[in-house]
Amino acid sequence: MYSGLKRVVNTILPQRLYLRLEPGLRYCLKWLYYGKRHHCPCCNTGLRKFVTNGHICPACGSGKRQRFQWLFLDREYDLFRTTKSVLDIAPMRHFQDYCIRHTQLNYQSADLESYLAMEKIDLTSTPYGNAEFDFVLCSHVLEHIPNDQQAIAEIYRILKPGGTTIIQVPLQEAPTYENPDIIKPEERLIHFGQNDHVRIYGLDIKERLIAAGFQIHIKKCSDIFSANEIDYYGLNKTEILFVGYKQNLYNAID
Ligand SMILES: [Zn+2]
Repeated sequence: MYSGLKRVVNTILPQRLYLRLEPGLRYCLKWLYYGKRHHCPCCNTGLRKFVTNGHICPACGSGKRQRFQWLFLDREYDLFRTTKSVLDIAPMRHFQDYCIRHTQLNYQSADLESYLAMEKIDLTSTPYGNAEFDFVLCSHVLEHIPNDQQAIAEIYRILKPGGTTIIQVPLQEAPTYENPDIIKPEERLIHFGQNDHVRIYGLDIKERLIAAGFQIHIKKCSDIFSANEIDYYGLNKTEILFVGYKQNLYNAID
């Protein structure tokens, strides 16, 4: 029912109007799917099930990767109880709204195309100064950018020494595959899994992040959360976060 309803709404409504009406629509869905078997950490809602094959929270629209990201940032990184300066690339509504309304974070969002973003930017050449942010969230963005090394270098530049980035990308088991000759959307869908992706990464994305200067820690969902938690929060046990630290050279010398 959820998928059919969403398809109809997306077909009828222009994206800007949909984004305005979405909170009211999701408020109705929250009660339609209310239950105790599952819990969405992003909107703090009890659910009888997640929809779209267990992927989406009907109450806020978060997917498995966003719920993993949220739990990691809340429990492991303690982001929401700090006053850090945050840049969120390609924001999700639930995260943006929560950071603005319920935290002391100095939050701003940016994207090349999203209507939700507070600022329009090109991640390979941002308007931000050196060392402006404590934290940069970059989830499922780099696979859209032809010059990803430049985008990664830009994230490094705008982070403060001691700052952190969280990078998420779609991953395959094989090494990163890219081919600049593949430019037609239908060919990109076949080769890279989505018609606006320019590559599909393997775990060797870590090398690109290290090349920009980051210290990288790989966090796998199943290494952090139990099987019960993975089911309860609707997570993907194989999901991976790349946590990049920009070393504080002053402390390192100490
Ligand atoms: Zn939710």
